[in-house]
Amino acid sequence: MTFEHAKCPLCLDQIAERSRLPDRGYQYQCPACGGPFEVSALAQRRAGKVGIHPGARAKMQQHLLDGKRPRVVFVNTTPNSYYEVREVNASEQTIIN
Ligand SMILES: [Zn+2]
Repeated sequence: MTFEHAKCPLCLDQIAERSRLPDRGYQYQCPACGGPFEVSALAQRRAGKVGIHPGARAKMQQHLLDGKRPRVVFVNTTPNSYYEVREVNASEQTIIN
């Protein structure tokens, strides 16, 4: 089990447990936001110190409230880049133990 501790990119308040997902960025478990939830490597870089964009953050938190596992990616397009949130299906989930 390889958890590291990192500031939660959703609430920016708690220290979350973070694990690397093979080719998929990161999985987080936050004491305040819950989880697990996933953040792509690019979304993580874009979030930086200010965190995930508030609109995407609200969608992530709604999925978590609904008992789903959300994933946020950053779609880098011209002229408008954006965060996209979707649910990770059970078959796609990486089991970390
Ligand atoms: Zn959090």
